Amino acid sequence: MKRTIAHLADGRELIYFDRRDDADHDVADPRDLPARPLASELRHDPLMDEWVAVARHRQTRTHLPSAQECPLCPGHPGSEIPSPYEVAVFENRFPSFSFNTGAYEQVGGLSEVRPGTGRCEVVCFTSDHDASFSSLGGEQAALVVEAWADRTAELSALPGVEQVFCFENRGAEIGITLPHPHGQIYAYPYVTPRTRQMLETAARHRGGNLFADVLAAERKGPRVVAANEHWTAFVPAAARYPFEVHLYPHRRVPDIPALSAEERAAFAPLYIDVLRRLDGLFGVVMPYVAAWHQAPVTYRRDLAYLHLQLFTIRRAADKLKYLAGSESAMGAFVNDVLPEEAARMLREVVTD
Ligand SMILES: [Zn+2]
Repeated sequence: MKRTIAHLADGRELIYFDRRDDADHDVADPRDLPARPLASELRHDPLMDEWVAVARHRQTRTHLPSAQECPLCPGHPGSEIPSPYEVAVFENRFPSFSFNTGAYEQVGGLSEVRPGTGRCEVVCFTSDHDASFSSLGGEQAALVVEAWADRTAELSALPGVEQVFCFENRGAEIGITLPHPHGQIYAYPYVTPRTRQMLETAARHRGGNLFADVLAAERKGPRVVAANEHWTAFVPAAARYPFEVHLYPHRRVPDIPALSAEERAAFAPLYIDVLRRLDGLFGVVMPYVAAWHQAPVTYRRDLAYLHLQLFTIRRAADKLKYLAGSESAMGAFVNDVLPEEAARMLREVVTD
């Protein structure tokens, strides 16, 4: 794999990942771009003990442009990526977190305010506008895994970064603003609420590692969707979403960089198989969120277990699950689909 680092006209970093060591890129960005926005402000919610990022500049971000104006397609005047590419990663132009900090004033109440330091990156899975992760070839998907590993290691080493989150939002129903196949990476200056809660639970767990015990039990049960030598995909017993699948490596590792070459190579075929099952459920392109749970940089890192959480909000061919009163206001999920039934339906999808 070859990495080529370039800079966009406003100073943001752009990194090309190529399979060929002799790949070459014209790294100049001819655009005249406005200055980068200042980092968001973080406000502490004193009731929930959680941070909320307030990023007003994101209100003006590019929203569902035409294919001709797609900023992730390479080499046209409005593109973020001047050169043709295999996999490209660049700093988000409208970031939720950045190191471009300004002045931050306290706002009264019991809420502490601090700068939203960190970094947000966009990961372009392919230059093919009409592709999706599930249509990537094995080698292309493996290159994305290498890019995730590279970025996780590098972002984890930045000052103040506490957690690195690689994820993909797919589909207009999920709220994507660009249809080009891509994911994102958030390097947060704090441990996210869900991760903190899971690791606190793991610290209280008696026996082996909590995540390893869950995986061992699920591998014997009725909710396995697919598996190979190094990974198992299952619907969790208490799935929150109508179709939710978790992918765990069989060996406990904290994050993507810690996966062995064999484990990295075995991930993409299983993941792509599960994605195709998801698309095959109702014969429609499934909206989904794919979320990598990685160990925080320092907090309870020894208890964490890398896994991918994949879920859709589509519960039937013509129906979506909305996070309404109980879920949004109370954090109390009600799932309309029996997890064992969801696993059976996913297993029965014919993929080829
Ligand atoms: Zn595109």
